[in-house]
Amino acid sequence: MNKIYLCAISNILSGSCKEDCAFCTQSSKYKTDIQRYNFKDIQIVVNEAKLARASKAIGFCLVTSGVGLDKKRKEYMLKALQELNSHDIGLNYIGCNGIAKYEDLLELKKSGLGSYNHNLESSENYYKTICTTHAWKDRYETCFAVKKAGLKLCSGGIFGMGESRADRESLISSLGSLSPASIAINFFVPNSALPLKKNTISKTEAKEIVAQIRESLPNSHIMIAGGRELIFDNLVEVFESGANSIVIGDYLTTKGEEKDKDIKAIESLGYKIAKSCDG
Ligand code: SF4
Repeated sequence: MNKIYLCAISNILSGSCKEDCAFCTQSSKYKTDIQRYNFKDIQIVVNEAKLARASKAIGFCLVTSGVGLDKKRKEYMLKALQELNSHDIGLNYIGCNGIAKYEDLLELKKSGLGSYNHNLESSENYYKTICTTHAWKDRYETCFAVKKAGLKLCSGGIFGMGESRADRESLISSLGSLSPASIAINFFVPNSALPLKKNTISKTEAKEIVAQIRESLPNSHIMIAGGRELIFDNLVEVFESGANSIVIGDYLTTKGEEKDKDIKAIESLGYKIAKSCDG
């Protein structure tokens, strides 16, 4: 492994989600202290995309809170993609708009979307404990619809939410059955307003999980996303465990590392930063 893939995130519709995911600061069921806003102005998103590319990101993920890709979200995404693609920014655009139907995903693909991120979050069994308002199965089926629509699939989960070892194994096995182009690994970031109070994964366990996924899916990108700074002390640990991708900049509702600091660290370790998703 000598190339590192960088992805940036834009939270284009934040908070006020009616679902009850126990790990999510964007659920309206919990009084978390986050910024909540309606659809971001598209020009702001274009500027963010340009800044992301200037920070060597090759993927730019447009995220909407909410259970799924409804009419409003789809129309916004189509407009945003049209505008983004009218600029030659050089990014792969990734949708992250929840549970979605094949036909809608196909429409996004035809409008220039390259990938779709939809995380399984946890095992099918444990998901019932952390979310009662929608089913894991719908998430899993969305992942298949993503692939059927010809989009690259990015899927993963959150570790450290109180799940058992068997739940972790089950999630890894489900991810294996999807063979995503990119696997997003998050670690639960505690927030006192959420029902889940603490992170339950150690650094050693996190490294083992990444190594296990690397072994079962040698050709996928493995991206360490939210919670990276909580679990790992530095990027040496991240890359040595088998990951070859990180989120650059801030996460959805939490601060990330300084972009320049990450870029310098990657380069000083002798890695090249990938110029496209394929190399
Ligand atoms: S559906 Fe998505 S945005 Fe809504 S609470 Fe669950 S994880 Fe958060």
